[in-house]
Amino acid sequence: MWRAIGLDEPVASPQLDPSSSVEGKGNQDGRQREWSCGRLKFRTDFDSGNLGDVIPCTKEGEYDLWVRPDCSGQACETKHRTWFYFGVSGQSANEVVSFNVVNMNKQAKLYSFDMRPVYFTPGSTEQWLPTSDPVRHQAVNSGFKISFSHRFESARETFFAFCIPFSCTDNERLMATVQKHAEQRDDLYFCREILGYSKHGRPIDLLTITSKGGMLDSAEAPLSYPCVDRGDAARAFDPKKKIFVVTSRVHPGETPATHVFNGFLGFLLQRDDERAIKLREKFVFKLIPIVNPDGVSFGHYRSDSQGQNLNRFYDDPKPDLYPETFAVKSLIMYYFGKGSLEVCIDLHAHANRMGSFAYCNHLGSQQQIDTIMYTKLVAMNCPYFDFRSCSFSERNMSIKDKNGESKEGSNRVALYRSTNLVHIYTIETNYSCASLTTAVTDATDGTKTLSPGYKVQSRKKFTVDSFGQIGKALLVGMLDVREWNPYSRLKSSEFKNMQILRNWASSYINASVLSKKFKSLSALSPKKSSVAAAATDKPLPKPRRSSISAARGDGGGENKKERRKSIFDQNKELIRAMSLENRERRRSIALQNEAEKDKRAVGGDKSVSDKLNVQRLELDGVETNENIKAVRWF
Ligand SMILES: [Zn+2]
Repeated sequence: MWRAIGLDEPVASPQLDPSSSVEGKGNQDGRQREWSCGRLKFRTDFDSGNLGDVIPCTKEGEYDLWVRPDCSGQACETKHRTWFYFGVSGQSANEVVSFNVVNMNKQAKLYSFDMRPVYFTPGSTEQWLPTSDPVRHQAVNSGFKISFSHRFESARETFFAFCIPFSCTDNERLMATVQKHAEQRDDLYFCREILGYSKHGRPIDLLTITSKGGMLDSAEAPLSYPCVDRGDAARAFDPKKKIFVVTSRVHPGETPATHVFNGFLGFLLQRDDERAIKLREKFVFKLIPIVNPDGVSFGHYRSDSQGQNLNRFYDDPKPDLYPETFAVKSLIMYYFGKGSLEVCIDLHAHANRMGSFAYCNHLGSQQQIDTIMYTKLVAMNCPYFDFRSCSFSERNMSIKDKNGESKEGSNRVALYRSTNLVHIYTIETNYSCASLTTAVTDATDGTKTLSPGYKVQSRKKFTVDSFGQIGKALLVGMLDVREWNPYSRLKSSEFKNMQILRNWASSYINASVLSKKFKSLSALSPKKSSVAAAATDKPLPKPRRSSISAARGDGGGENKKERRKSIFDQNKELIRAMSLENRERRRSIALQNEAEKDKRAVGGDKSVSDKLNVQRLELDGVETNENIKAVRWF
């Protein structure tokens, strides 16, 4: 994959951070970055590295590793301890070494679904791979402990990480390569500039990608948003050409966000794909690959250099305290002011829920239909994106963290409050495991099939490629919702056309207002029965405002029950079908779990397999047209 864009090795490889030694660029200078334990040497003296300590165990060849909390040793030290990334050298080929990471935050869910650390041996392995044996995990006094062993393939230095890394240095290399490539293309407009600087002075990259249509003679007004250095300010475009913003890595340890981002970027740059051409023709893309470069460079899990969660300050980002969020919000408000802002997507990773899904704002019913249709269309374009896990709840707009910070300050909610924009999403993707998926149908224009449909048979583990598929689907779904996709999968799906999909979305809301206080639409699943109803019936009744507010609990006491009952009566067949199918789904998951258990029991020592307590999953190795396209970058 990387060779196709002119790199000899994976973009993500451990490299010294050229900015970490520059005065003023770091507040972590005093920390230990190397440990010698007998023959073995451990190190984290590179960009994104994280280890706090290494202690040899009494058993030969076993080591206790301590994760360094975000901002360790400072007044603002946090309790976030999950990201680790270190190198080991001094071993011999075929030697087996055991590692215990002893003080992590509790991540039992991930490891019960067979999450594994990844390793990479420069010059030997071509890419990051999961370690070969399952991880054991348990709660301990120091927090949460995972144990894993590794048989070294060679005596070369080998790197291990929580999840496939992507540091600022990796990003710099990828951006430079993409820039070199894109600037030679005359079929697109490309500009790479610096949006602003982090608290510690690291640049925040901003890419502009679009076609040349609608390009104006002037550059964008550099003073309209606080770019420190806009020597190469992007060209302005006709405001009719809408702005599509993507941000990633506000939470530094959430590297799946970057892999989704890179899939998005790779598809957008496809030279010949008619969908990519259409996307560039219709939108001006503003892409920010790393919002929090300090956190990424320091090897943090969730915080910036001051121990803050930057995704809680979008409501009122103070430029001196949170220059990163300030720069991003200013950029977005600039386009909002011009009347051209259309889509904002913020990419994250998730540790508890499987699969990939969206957090959407809770909107008025007509707008909500648009967001339901978009997320459903994304799912129809990608087997790894799970519509059933998407949340549209009001509660998810204001829920508070343990430390009292509210989601009102998140990118998604705060930008919605400032702009009333419909298409603002947080996309969450599990670190390891896709959820149970549905089939993807043919992408066709009726005569020619651009990409045939396929089905992923069982729950899969994510790879860089399958993460990338999600990024691509976020783009194609937007073409679909606008009815601009020349090869839409909608026609070959059960929905057939936009009107049926719209009717279905409307009935979905109607049914969902019955769920407890409209808590989460994700509790109910879209079902064939409802599609059939939408296809055969006249348009379903639109959800009444009053019924939504009744379900929200703000509709006044007495009539509330009655209203609920009347909506229930109107939709009871639909709801019954939904709950039956939900039960089916649960049953199929239970059966699958049982089958896995049996397999393990047959496969070997039952006590060991019970102790491991993991659901072993296959690595995603499905070869489809879609995958091949993702590999061919341009
Ligand atoms: Zn996040």
